[in-house]
Amino acid sequence: MARYVCTGTCGGSVSEAEFKRGKNKCGTKGCNRYGKQLVMEK
Ligand SMILES: [Zn+2]
Repeated sequence: MARYVCTGTCGGSVSEAEFKRGKNKCGTKGCNRYGKQLVMEK
């Protein structure tokens, strides 16, 4: 299953299932991509 990652400083990731449930943006305060869309891991 694919994973989706934050490309910012937090380095966070979620599973595809979580992404589809709406966890599609970075939620880590202080990350330089906070609130930005996660991207599919290559
Ligand atoms: Zn982030």
